[in-house]
Amino acid sequence: MNGSQNRPIAFLDLAAQQKRLEPALRQRLETVLAHCRFVMGPEVLELEQRLAQWCGAWECVGVSSGTDALQIVMMGEQIGRGDAVFLPAFTYTATAEVPLVLGATPVFVDVDPNTFQIDPEHLRSRIRAVREAGKLKPRAIVGVDLFGQPAPWADLRAIAQEEDLFLLADCAQSFGAKLNGAPLGREATATTLSFFPSKPLGGYGDGGAILTDDPERAALYRSLRTHGEGTTRYEVLRTGMNGRLDTLQAAVLLAKLDDFARELTRREEIACQYDAGLKDVVQVPARVPDSQSAWAIYSVLLKNSAEREQMQARLKEQGVPSAIYYPLPLHKQPAYRDHHDGTALPVSEDLAQRILALPIHPELTDEEVARVIAAVRG
Ligand SMILES: *Cc1c(COP(=O)(O)O)cnc(C)c1O
Repeated sequence: MNGSQNRPIAFLDLAAQQKRLEPALRQRLETVLAHCRFVMGPEVLELEQRLAQWCGAWECVGVSSGTDALQIVMMGEQIGRGDAVFLPAFTYTATAEVPLVLGATPVFVDVDPNTFQIDPEHLRSRIRAVREAGKLKPRAIVGVDLFGQPAPWADLRAIAQEEDLFLLADCAQSFGAKLNGAPLGREATATTLSFFPSKPLGGYGDGGAILTDDPERAALYRSLRTHGEGTTRYEVLRTGMNGRLDTLQAAVLLAKLDDFARELTRREEIACQYDAGLKDVVQVPARVPDSQSAWAIYSVLLKNSAEREQMQARLKEQGVPSAIYYPLPLHKQPAYRDHHDGTALPVSEDLAQRILALPIHPELTDEEVARVIAAVRG
């Protein structure tokens, strides 16, 4: 007996991935160690070109994180005091943090109970309410491609156009996904990516990028990521930040990008195995129509929080990790609740009680996937 039945399964297995990609990773890192251009080295430009190519975007600007990518885009639109930025309540904290850092106000919107993506009808009513209240100026919508799936982009574009609002795609979790056969990256005026190690395309530290088809905005983002510099290094045109992508991170990402398509295929296979093995015992994730998920996260819904607690305990006993994204919607967070107008967001609140993420990473074996399914089925 090999005892593999109880060997703990990893929620994320960066060590196994590293072993698999080691020759390419080492070669890329050694090249950087040899040239020593650690800030804005040639790998940054190469990665920007490869990412733009991947999704057909005209421009890509490598930056220091997904959060800084959001900040640079919002700084580029001069979003600040008195401005309202509409975003889903059910997302990672960074989406709401950035408008607040810039002095603007996040306006939380509820999400769809099946796809977990922002609800366009609720967005319309939130915009109307902010206009009627007359205190804040509606400026931007942040569509979040949650868990690997696309936000409802056709609706969001129509609303942004009707309401004359800037449209930003927070694609931190979903680079690699497709909508209507096209890779995500061109759904909004600007798209932000994160290369945090746990994202589908993850580096070995913090990193991010901004995609856009607008060359003027791309130039502005390049200036903002380097302290608002002008055409010469010591000309400061605007207040910017230190928001560059490290050369070493770009090197890691270039090595990983060569295998990324295959990893996405493996994630989809695992999702299909989970769907087939679990759909009669839990609510499996609904697919956004006409899309292909990047499967950053595979979340099922239990009946209530008590059932979720029991399930997590049982999985843990059997060496199966699970996680909760997100245990609290953003409008209920201590840091943000005072900025919320009190509107009920019942779907986000309900999902937070019942949602549970199962491991989905490309290193999982079929045997491990079967073990996860068996553990959930009890
Ligand atoms: C991870 C994430 C971010 C932030 O990315 P970092 O690179 O960690 O700064 C922003 N938005 C969403 C939806 C995320 O999941």
